[in-house]
This record gives sequence, structure tokens and C-alpha cells, in this order.
Amino acid sequence: MRSVRHGGLDADVLVVGGGPVGLAAAIHARAAGLDVLVTDRRTGTLDKACGEGLFPGALCAVQALGADPPGHPLAGISYRAPGRHADHRFAAGPGRGVRRTALHEALWKRAADVGASFLHGRVTGLRQDATGVEAEVAPGGADGTGAHGVGVDGVGAGRAPVTLRAGWVLGCDGLHSTVRRLAGLDVGTGPRAARPASHRYGLRRHFQVQPWTDLVEVHWSPHAEAYVTPVGADTVGVALLGPRAVLGTGFDALLRAQFPELSARLATATDTGSLLGAGPLRQRSRRRSAGRVRLVGDASGYVDALTGEGVRVGLAQADAAVRHLDDADAYERAWRTATRDYRALTTGLLAWASSPARRAIVPAASRAPWLYGAVVERLAR
Ligand SMILES: Cc1cc2nc3c(=O)[nH]c(=O)nc-3n(C[C@H](O)[C@H](O)[C@H](O)COP(=O)(O)OP(=O)(O)OC[C@H]3O[C@@H](n4cnc5c(N)ncnc54)[C@H](O)[C@@H]3O)c2cc1C
Repeated sequence: MRSVRHGGLDADVLVVGGGPVGLAAAIHARAAGLDVLVTDRRTGTLDKACGEGLFPGALCAVQALGADPPGHPLAGISYRAPGRHADHRFAAGPGRGVRRTALHEALWKRAADVGASFLHGRVTGLRQDATGVEAEVAPGGADGTGAHGVGVDGVGAGRAPVTLRAGWVLGCDGLHSTVRRLAGLDVGTGPRAARPASHRYGLRRHFQVQPWTDLVEVHWSPHAEAYVTPVGADTVGVALLGPRAVLGTGFDALLRAQFPELSARLATATDTGSLLGAGPLRQRSRRRSAGRVRLVGDASGYVDALTGEGVRVGLAQADAAVRHLDDADAYERAWRTATRDYRALTTGLLAWASSPARRAIVPAASRAPWLYGAVVERLAR
């Protein structure tokens, strides 16, 4: 168990979840002179189902944190359907396709360098009073690949949970946030709960093949989308998005049936076997704060991966959460500002994609390049 520090606190800030948003929050908190402990239920180098596209704004935000993960330049976005496509190249210069493992390594190293501490453990309980929050941390579960080793304490398997006390808790624990539930900020999925068939999910796999483009390709089929992102000199990631019933077909069968052009391109490529999934993607929170607990990143709510913006929006929230640690209302306002465009654009595109006019998306983008270009430039910010 960690030793208790000043004022009876184990840390000024306990960050629950060591994904990109949690690590960014830890880096910001250290820059603000706060003592930070990051706990994640997994340890080692963490992977996740993700399209892995960092558009120019997201790449700048990662670099501003002092991390520069390797990857493949991304010059723009191409919407594609059989016989049609619309391409737009970012005016501000390239973004980067970055393997989640590379992003994690770079941010983790930066957080460690600036003095964040790490604990391998799963938060299972929260209690708060006027001056702090107590978190119950049980042994962590399945590890990521490899291990950071140095500097990661662990709540030993089979041991009793430990209790940590912090001034604030930042819930950066992803789509199915435990912190959101424990803080009473979860929203039932409402009428959609009765219609799970409409919930959307994501599947991601990598292929060993030389990238054939420096654009992120978004292939639109009648029922699903395939995001193709070059992430290295010989690696391309493919993320499939769609309703449960469609993705339930299985990655390979879906690729063959719905994306024949892409499937043909990948026919001779070796898949690296790293199939990961995520969902339901749509998640909501009542508010972003409860007392001294803040929700940040996917934990605070998520619309869909359709616009590929999760990391940029999450990093902006991490900055705002630390800047307004003392003022829940100011964080709520900053959160709304940081997520407004993402929520509006993704909700609108999702409504179009779920309507009978779905088939018109790629033709409309190719017929109105100025409009398509404006949307892509918005995503690039
Ligand atoms: C299919 C798909 C494609 C996507 N494509 C893109 C893209 O191209 N570009 C982009 O920017 N975004 C994309 N996104 C979104 C992006 O992946 C997320 O927005 C981003 O990962 C959010 O980061 P996070 O740190 O909030 O959450 P996560 O990355 O999910 O990290 C949460 C962490 O919390 C830990 N955790 C969970 N519960 C607990 C607990 N109880 N105790 C301790 N730790 C816990 C988990 O182990 C995990 O490491 C995509 C998402 C999906 C699903």
C-alpha cells in the first residue's frame, strides 16, 4: 500500500484510467504542480480498438504535451463508395496515423518523466467528503502487452483492496466508466436501451502491408463503415463501425461481403491477429462533476467514432478539467465548449448515416467538394 502523504492524502489528484486522456490529465496536473497518481486496471503497453488517426489538431495537442509518437503521415480524408470518392487534403499539413500502443508509450513516458506515479489496480468504490475522495482499488486485471515495470506499483492479485485518498478524482476510465456509475452520473441509455440492435460498435484489426495512400479512407457500405488508417511503413489499421447485428457477422466475413474493393486490396496482406472491439459507442453522463469527482474523455460521454475525433476532444477536456479543478461549473462550461462541434457534427452525420439517405453521403461529398472540404478542415482543427 502506498504511504500517506501531506494532509492525509495519497495524492492531490487520482486519475482513474491510464488511456490517452488520463495520461494527458496527469501531465497537465503535474504542470500545475499537483501530486498525481494514475491507476489503471491494466498494466504494460495498453492497446484499444481505435481508428488510430490523429488529425492535425490532435497531433498538435499530443505534441504540446511533450510527446511525439511515431507513425505514418496522414494528409487528409477520403470518403469512398463503389465507383465514387471524395478526397480532401488538410490545409494545415499532415496529421499522423499512430498505433495506440505507440501513443500509450509516448504519453506514459512523458507522464512518468514529469513525475506522475502509477498504480496497477481497478477502482471499485468511491466515497467523498468536503475535503477529498476515497477510492477503493482492487487488484488489476488482464495486462496490456509488455510491461513498463519501473515505477508501477500494483495491488497484488488475491490481496484485499486498498483505499486511497485524493483531493480530486478524475474519471478517465473510458466508455464503460466505473467512476461515472459510482459518482451517480450515469444516464440510463433511455429509449435506446430497449432497442439494442441500434447500438453501434467498433472492431479493429491490423494488416501487414505497405500503405497504398496517405489519406484516411472511410469506406461506406449500406450498413457499416470501414476506417483505413496507415499507421506505419508496413502496417495499415482497419476499424469497422456499425450496428451490433452487422458487426456480429465477424470481421473477415463483413469485410468480404460489404467492402469488396478493400477486401481485394488486403487479400494478400497478413493480418496481425490483433482483433479488438469496443461498444456500445453511445454513452452519456448527467453532468461532468459530482463534488470532487470529474469525468473526462470517453467517460464523460461519447457519441460515435464516425468522425475520428475522440482523442482530440478528450485531450481538450483533460486540459479543462485540470484548469478548472476547483470550479465544477467552469469545467462544465469548458467541457461543453470543447465538445460542442464534435457532438453536433457526429450526431448529425450519424442521423444521416442511419437514414434511408445514407447512400447519398459519398455522392454528396464528391458533388460538393467545398462542403466536404469544410467539414474535413473542421475535423482537422
Ligand atoms: C472503433 C473506434 C475507432 C476510433 N477511431 C478514432 C480515431 O481514429 N481517432 C481518434 O482520435 N479517436 C478515435 N476513437 C475514439 C478514441 O479511441 C477514444 O476517444 C479514446 O481512446 C478515449 O480515451 P480515454 O483515455 O478517454 O479512454 P480509453 O482509451 O478507453 O482509456 C480508459 C482506460 O481506463 C481504464 N479503466 C477502465 N475502468 C477502470 C477502472 N475501474 N479502474 C482503473 N482503470 C480503469 C482502461 O483499462 C483504459 O486503459 C475511436 C474509437 C473507437 C471505438
